[in-house]
Amino acid sequence: MWPLGAHRNGQGALVVGGVDVRDAARDFGTPLFLLDEADFRARAAAFRVAYDPGRTDIYYAAKAFLCTTIARWAVEEGLGIDVASGGELAVAVAAGVPGERLLLHGNNKSRGEIRRALESGVGRIVVDAPAEVDRIAEVARDMGVRASVLVRVTVGVEAHTHEFIATAHEDQKFGLSLASGAAYDVILRIAGMDVLDFRGLHSHIGSQIFDAAGFEVAAMRLVGLMGELHAEGIEVAELNLGGGMGIAYVSDDDPLEAGAMAKAIESIVDEACARAHLPVPRLAFEPGRAIVGPSAITVYEVGTVKPVELDHGHQRVYVSVDGGMSDNIRTALYDADYTVTLASRVSTAAPMLCRVVGKHCESGDVVVRDAWLPGDLREGDLLAVAATGAYCRSMASQYNYLPRPAVVAARDGNCTVMLRRETEEDLLALDPGAAV
Ligand SMILES: *Cc1c(COP(=O)(O)O)cnc(C)c1O
Repeated sequence: MWPLGAHRNGQGALVVGGVDVRDAARDFGTPLFLLDEADFRARAAAFRVAYDPGRTDIYYAAKAFLCTTIARWAVEEGLGIDVASGGELAVAVAAGVPGERLLLHGNNKSRGEIRRALESGVGRIVVDAPAEVDRIAEVARDMGVRASVLVRVTVGVEAHTHEFIATAHEDQKFGLSLASGAAYDVILRIAGMDVLDFRGLHSHIGSQIFDAAGFEVAAMRLVGLMGELHAEGIEVAELNLGGGMGIAYVSDDDPLEAGAMAKAIESIVDEACARAHLPVPRLAFEPGRAIVGPSAITVYEVGTVKPVELDHGHQRVYVSVDGGMSDNIRTALYDADYTVTLASRVSTAAPMLCRVVGKHCESGDVVVRDAWLPGDLREGDLLAVAATGAYCRSMASQYNYLPRPAVVAARDGNCTVMLRRETEEDLLALDPGAAV
């Protein structure tokens, strides 16, 4: 759950990337995202190593967490970047990511976003709707370029942690249906257009996936479509199976590690292609959470500790911290579970069951629903929540006008600001009515 090499120092304080969380909290304030650079690089490299670069591309899914530093690290570790909006594209471009390493997603890309992607030399655009074929073709024609596209196929597989559900049809906004023939029709149309270069198929079946079973069903169905296209003389050069590889948020979570997942999926695709007498396509994956999720922790300062009487003489202790749903919406949104620890000291006090909550005006503003923390927890203590690198800062809001936290990289005991803390001046800067 914790970044590689995280440990307690002689004073009992949690150390991440060689940095004592108390020092980081003092220097950068709380809440704070402390991100271990070595951990991020190691996880990115693990994906690069798990899959044979001769046959597989790895794109880091920017939506998990993006800033220019992360984009540079991902590229340095041999990964491309998958972006899903003009804003994510702008950050990747600002980081100097070469266009051919970029892949553009989205179920409603604007003409402006498509144009900027093509101007940056984007490697792949993933078609998500019939109307997008014409939108991309129109922009590409206007610019006098050819666009390399994948077609996102909904294969009727929904993955969620230990289970996946295989269905015949898909009721969701993403992609083009395999079962209805919508994907097939769009590909035939693309194949007849000079300005579009049909490269292959894309599928993304979900998130927090712990084993290869869901990928297997998706891959088998896609290889079926490859066979149908092959009969029409259309070759699928690339198969992008998306992201969704899971991580451990709590000690019970047990995801398959990158190497084992890679071997399982690669052999599934190899065997399916061999059975169908099809050439094996180039593969691609788009992990986000599995790379950046465990790399960062959130450091909060404890404010109030309040026992509340429940029925039958029970008690719940509410521990309020200085952030909450504005820096981690996942508990409220998905009922996500997290691991939290007292980070600024160790305590021998008996543990108490408590609920760690934020400071927002919502009773659903929960950070960790049920946590065991030392009974002597008090104001000023620092708490650390593990595995908050993905979908926390990237989903952060300014609800209640809380300025969004900084993200600081820790490496060998040194800190570097990746995103600075927002200030109240930043918030007021958007408001033309604010007195200047
Ligand atoms: C969200 C998403 C990803 C990344 O998902 P993770 O669960 O973070 O690995 C990759 N590809 C697509 C198309 C996505 O929507």
